[in-house]
Amino acid sequence: MVYEIDVDICVGCGACAASCPISAIKQKEDKYIINLDTCKGCGVCESTCPVNAISEN
Ligand code: SF4
Ligand code: SF4
Repeated sequence: MVYEIDVDICVGCGACAASCPISAIKQKEDKYIINLDTCKGCGVCESTCPVNAISEN
């Protein structure tokens, strides 16, 4: 199980990247993306996003 960021909803605040315990979220231009190869599916980032742009995939 991994999580994904919907870039159409993401406002680029960076809160998710700061919350990920294994630094699996990186900035890409003015949005953020989750590295699906390293994400361990803990869900911490999902609960951190203020606009609910992150969901299980
Ligand atoms: S689910 Fe956990 S490991 Fe995966 S990107 Fe979010 S905080 Fe990081
Ligand atoms: S916390 Fe949500 S809005 Fe902020 S950068 Fe992450 S996905 Fe985008």
